[in-house]
Amino acid sequence: MAERYDVVIAGGAVHGASAAWWLTRARPGLRVAVVERDPTYATASTALSVASVRQQFTNAVNVRISRFGIGFIRDFARHLAPHGPDLGLRENGYLFLVGTAEGAKALGQVAAMQRAEGAATEVWDAATLARRFPWLSAEGVSAASFGARDEGWFDNMGLLGGFRAGARAQGATFLHDRVTGLGLKGGRVTSVRLSSGEDLACGALINCTGTRAAEVMAMAGQALPVEPRKRTVFLIDAPNARHPDAPLIIDYQGYYMRPERGQWIIATVPAEDGPCDAQDFDPDAGQFEELIWPAVHARAPGFDAVKVVRCWAGHYAYNRLDQNAVVGLWPGLDNLYLAAGFSGHGLQQAPAVGRALSELILEGAYRSLDLTDLGPQRLLDGTPFRELAIV
Ligand SMILES: Cc1cc2nc3c(=O)[nH]c(=O)nc-3n(C[C@H](O)[C@H](O)[C@H](O)COP(=O)(O)OP(=O)(O)OC[C@H]3O[C@@H](n4cnc5c(N)ncnc54)[C@H](O)[C@@H]3O)c2cc1C
Repeated sequence: MAERYDVVIAGGAVHGASAAWWLTRARPGLRVAVVERDPTYATASTALSVASVRQQFTNAVNVRISRFGIGFIRDFARHLAPHGPDLGLRENGYLFLVGTAEGAKALGQVAAMQRAEGAATEVWDAATLARRFPWLSAEGVSAASFGARDEGWFDNMGLLGGFRAGARAQGATFLHDRVTGLGLKGGRVTSVRLSSGEDLACGALINCTGTRAAEVMAMAGQALPVEPRKRTVFLIDAPNARHPDAPLIIDYQGYYMRPERGQWIIATVPAEDGPCDAQDFDPDAGQFEELIWPAVHARAPGFDAVKVVRCWAGHYAYNRLDQNAVVGLWPGLDNLYLAAGFSGHGLQQAPAVGRALSELILEGAYRSLDLTDLGPQRLLDGTPFRELAIV
């Protein structure tokens, strides 16, 4: 007979582990199984992320998610005690640079919304930028926005490890296996087929399979517009640009960078962007010389002597409709939930999304933070809920 679980979670990286922790915390004794095909997480976005958190989003719901997320990340060790490490949060802020008058106007409007939500976003002119960060050139900058608190970076694998250990301690079962099929009856997922041949009977399924979320939806006969898109990240040594207090800079010229233990993490959004092979993790090493370095050097003259220490490629679970997360119950199926399509900002959203899914599954409604805006119905309607502050 198939083993029965109240909730089966497909995918055991940060979103799967967070949902498992919140569910088992809210209801001790709940039978939760997390199925993870690769517990080394070698190619999970969670492990390949640049692990940063910001308040500067253009949708209020994303700001609210991060308002909760930053506090949770800051106090992770206490929330997860004794299973969560200190995540070493460095609150250096995010600095967005824009280069047009329209961009400056939009920045001001969005910053007002963020402040109304409790963020500390400041908007600067070029002269203020030059005064605050004299090692940066303000050339071409029409305005900048800076998060004076609650933004920075942290230990991604600590977040995952803490949620996993905490969920296990609360009774969740983690299985090293792959979800290969779903059993459906009367508009419900009744069982989950694993590559080992085992079937798990389930009360509900959460799809947390990241870049492969569309594969799992296809097992239920549903189309999800989420696909892997490659992003190459460079770790750079720049001996003449040692600025440990630098923020994470997002330049309108198409790259972002932040300090990392005496070195720098730098990446770009490729001009030719499209879906990639789910197995292709070869970094596009040429991007640094061709695209990134000229722009970085023009912005920060200290980057005159640089060495690429290493580079790696990770995949965004890219939501083609609007590059925003898809969270909630899939329309037409009574018990199939999603946490998918996070594009480039899903790590910081894991604490709030796991809590929200736990509420939705156990209580039938969002209680603490309403994530209805991120619901999957918009995909079926073709109605984008766009997040414009996309990196
Ligand atoms: C280069 C890069 C930089 C990023 N920077 C940031 C950042 O600064 N801040 C931020 O908030 N976010 C960032 N992100 C995004 C963030 O990393 C992701 O949104 C987040 O980690 C997604 O977590 P997840 O659990 O949904 O998916 P993943 O981490 O991709 O995990 C999905 C898991 O599902 C498993 N799986 C897949 N199919 C199956 C199956 N059939 N059966 C069982 N298991 C399966 C996989 O093995 C994997 O472990 C970045 C991403 C990348 C690639």
